[in-house]
Amino acid sequence: MSPSNIADALGRVRERIERAAISSGRDPRDVHLLAVSKTKSEDAIREAYAAGQRAFGENYAQELDTKARLLADLADLQWHFIGHLQSNKAKQVARVVSCVHTIDRAAIAHELAKRALPSQPISVFLEVNVAGESQKFGVAPSALGPLLDVVRAEPSLRLRGLMTMPPLGGDEVDLDLARRTFQDLVALRDEHGGPMLLPELSMGMSDDLEVAIACGATWVRVGTAIFGDRG
Ligand SMILES: *Cc1c(COP(=O)(O)O)cnc(C)c1O
Repeated sequence: MSPSNIADALGRVRERIERAAISSGRDPRDVHLLAVSKTKSEDAIREAYAAGQRAFGENYAQELDTKARLLADLADLQWHFIGHLQSNKAKQVARVVSCVHTIDRAAIAHELAKRALPSQPISVFLEVNVAGESQKFGVAPSALGPLLDVVRAEPSLRLRGLMTMPPLGGDEVDLDLARRTFQDLVALRDEHGGPMLLPELSMGMSDDLEVAIACGATWVRVGTAIFGDRG
């Protein structure tokens, strides 16, 4: 998308978030927008930044590293990592991010914690595979309790809450499936202490953010609706 289109698209996404929050009786300020910029250019990110966006999500460690260098002049830009994180990339990621949404095993929590400073803790979400075998990544619901304990024991990680993705369907967006997935995540959050212990929920993307907000999302991760198709 061209620059003015990115600003316009961002405005439309903000409106969608606000409408969805209000229609489910929530304060729109409790829903944060993560702009997912994977595969998108430095210039596209600058345009979104110029339009007021500050939190950006990337999926690949190398791409994140490159963009963080190119955009180092934007001091208050926040990077979130939302891809599958490999142990040998933890160091590279820890150097630049304020938040990781995809902690799904103890080894990666330890690796990340080792690279972060207790004075500058990294916020984390545990990615839960609520949909079962059709999803590749995420901790199984039965293993969530022990993984929460692992993360809580790391002083350089700050536990925010849970994250999930609905199973990939075909070409059609399946909002009922998305709703069931998000409701399952909320139920798991309630089983593990509720919003007091796990205040944040990272769920909802371009096509299903309204459903996610109705279910209680506090972070929606939106790429296509802001930056256009990834081709
Ligand atoms: C790519 C991606 C998104 C954004 O998806 P869109 O459909 O483009 O909004 C959100 N979350 C994760 C984990 C992603 O990988």
